[in-house]
Amino acid sequence: MTRELDLVIIGGGPGGYVAAIRASQLGMRTCVVEKDPQFGGTCLHRGCIPTKALLHSAALFEQARDAGRFGVVIEGSVRFDPAKARGYRDQVVQKNARGIDFLLRKNGVETIHGWGRLAGGNRVEVATEDGGAQSSGAQSSGAQGSTVELSPRYVLLATGSAPRDLPGYPADGETILDSDQLLEQDRVPESLVVIGGGAVGVEFASLYASLGTSVALVEMLDRLVPNEDEEVSAELERCFRRRGIAVSTSTRVAAIERQASGLKVTFDAAGERRSLECEVALVAIGRRPNIDDLGLEVAGVEVEEGCVRVSQFQETAASGIYAIGDLVKTPWLAHVASAEGILAVEHMAGVAERPIDYDRVPSCTYCDPEVASVGLTESEARQRGHEVAVGKFPFSALGKSAILGKTEGFVKVVRETRYDQVLGVHIVGAHATDLIAEACVALQVETTTEELVRTIHAHPTLSEAVAEAAQAALGRPLHA
Ligand code: FAD
Repeated sequence: MTRELDLVIIGGGPGGYVAAIRASQLGMRTCVVEKDPQFGGTCLHRGCIPTKALLHSAALFEQARDAGRFGVVIEGSVRFDPAKARGYRDQVVQKNARGIDFLLRKNGVETIHGWGRLAGGNRVEVATEDGGAQSSGAQSSGAQGSTVELSPRYVLLATGSAPRDLPGYPADGETILDSDQLLEQDRVPESLVVIGGGAVGVEFASLYASLGTSVALVEMLDRLVPNEDEEVSAELERCFRRRGIAVSTSTRVAAIERQASGLKVTFDAAGERRSLECEVALVAIGRRPNIDDLGLEVAGVEVEEGCVRVSQFQETAASGIYAIGDLVKTPWLAHVASAEGILAVEHMAGVAERPIDYDRVPSCTYCDPEVASVGLTESEARQRGHEVAVGKFPFSALGKSAILGKTEGFVKVVRETRYDQVLGVHIVGAHATDLIAEACVALQVETTTEELVRTIHAHPTLSEAVAEAAQAALGRPLHA
């Protein structure tokens, strides 16, 4: 059977389902094709949401152990119950999954569960097990049989990405684990080697360190979170070491051997060879776009370095076919996938105003302490030829930080001196991922550092550190 639609979206993650809602607002008859039983993608089921739920449980566990110093006495021991934490995490995920179903239904988006692939031109074929009927209650195409054919005006590819294996040592789900598999573990390991010091690696290292696991964190480059400002990386490494995480940078995995009681991981570090024994290893060396078996070639969609090549409005080399999110070569973040999805459908509808400015995309890492940034790092600003001044303010000098007992880290503001424009804000410390929102607005409206300083920040709040760092960037710090 062939159905006429304005838009078919393949993939119902934060890129695909958000694009579907926006397309429907724009009056497009839209259908989302999703291979999994639920919408939400990596972000909801294996990424952002479950990891942050577990990090919240782990933070509460640490706070409870530390509560005595705030005058809260817990009689008896504090215990972490992995099964209950998993139950809470699953509840959060399911609540969000129901929310997406509701939103798709409310916006009249059709849905089909099955494997979608391009079939030439703008045609899409969906291989389904049950003819495409789906359980969420969102409007189904109602087709019978195992293949549904759709013939929309536009197609949006939003199939996301999957964990990348360490060459020669594929994840086995038992001792060598990727992030999907580690999330499925029901027990807290005694010891863990995390391979990869990017956002996923440092979040899991932080999580398990909070739960009492002996954690070693190994990064091939010379610093953790290498996309962040260098001073932020250095502060995070210092904090991790203080928490007992064994951090090794400029270190490569040379071999992994399976042993009776786990693994022996051998590393090369500056010409020296070392080994570590551990119960399990997490491979967090990045992800690869899901481009296989999508019919890209038949439709004329071009791929470059494993990613779908797109224009600044997300259109692929094949007219009318767009791609977004983890499929394309922009930061692999849920909010980027959503923004690209909105841009793509607005372009189809002829209402897109301007491409995304990737310098204004916030980057957030939810380890302890948290890391968040937006805009240029100090070295990027200098490389781009700006006359740069920076200001830093430590949380240790802030009343609210002392109240919370979270005094690690700082805010760093990078400004250019000619027009006083704020170019970047970098935060490492408690609640950094919420604090960064103010900086995102500042960059979006191209504010000056002076305006940021003159914005009155409530006392006592952590946000005062942003204003203080801006003061410091102007050479007139008040409280430091
Ligand atoms: P996905 O979310 O991967 O969704 C793609 C969807 O397409 C999936 O539902 C998949 O089943 C479906 N699909 C694939 N192929 C087909 C097909 N042929 N037919 C039909 N359906 C198909 N980002 C953040 O911004 N913040 C975070 O805190 C964060 N934490 C993360 C933690 C971890 C452990 C991981 C792994 C990732 C994290 N990310 C985070 C990244 C974020 O999850 C991704 O950037 C985001 O999910 C990408 O969205 P997407 O829509 O492009 O793809």
